[in-house]
Amino acid sequence: MTVQRLPRAGQCKWAEGTGGDYYFPCQNRVEAGISYCAEHHAMVYISPEERRRQRENPQVSQQRRIAA
Ligand SMILES: [Zn+2]
Repeated sequence: MTVQRLPRAGQCKWAEGTGGDYYFPCQNRVEAGISYCAEHHAMVYISPEERRRQRENPQVSQQRRIAA
């Protein structure tokens, strides 16, 4: 099994690994100038709306008190 050390041009640059030993498991093609495929782009860049939802979720659960 060969491990790819550098992302090819037009390939998703999603990196995995630890301790400086990285490889690029994602083989999805990307447009020129784009770093990540759609899947990994969504993991790297969280929209402001999504960020706000994640902030509000804990508050929502706290507001749900048990009406005993
Ligand atoms: Zn990817």
